[in-house]
Amino acid sequence: MNSKVERHVLFDRHEIEVTVRRLASEISQDYRNQNPLLLGVLRGSFVFLADLIRHLDFPLEVDFIGLSSYGSRTQSSGKIRVVKEPETSVRGRNVLVVEDIVDTGLTTAFLLKYLKRHKPVSVKLCALADKPSRREIPVNIDYLGFTVPNKFLIGYGLDANQKFRNLPDICYLEDKV
Ligand code: IMP
Repeated sequence: MNSKVERHVLFDRHEIEVTVRRLASEISQDYRNQNPLLLGVLRGSFVFLADLIRHLDFPLEVDFIGLSSYGSRTQSSGKIRVVKEPETSVRGRNVLVVEDIVDTGLTTAFLLKYLKRHKPVSVKLCALADKPSRREIPVNIDYLGFTVPNKFLIGYGLDANQKFRNLPDICYLEDKV
């Protein structure tokens, strides 16, 4: 039997651009004059974060945190660890976490708890995408780009086995038998 994988566009680059501008405008209203620390979660958020900050015209700082989940992608064990610490101290800062996608919520819940232990003034969350049908732990997303169906997404920074991060659109793969 021949099986072929087809790629479909879920949100194209123009829809993404409109959404990123909308998020930037919401964030600007709340963070102007606060010199926030935007903390990108590696690796999936780097494209989104790079576009987002170019629509923010006030002082801010950027750093990254690297997280890794034990277990396979589809069967998350919920055991998360920090593989790259931010170089900037979050103590006394207004921190805006920038995530690619909230799926089970386990990674984000771990991260928010981790950051709060380091005594920031505030921590809020901006996520490009939310897949609520997969949620295992409640997560409050303060600035949300897209609510997405239960499909594995690629492109615009999102990967499948480290591939496809370079696609300009947000896509999903489908097996065609
Ligand atoms: P969670 O802990 O299950 O919420 O998963 C969080 C991380 O898994 C995200 O930050 C992504 O890196 C990755 N992830 C979840 N869903 C997808 C997807 O559809 N495509 C690519 N990566 C995903």
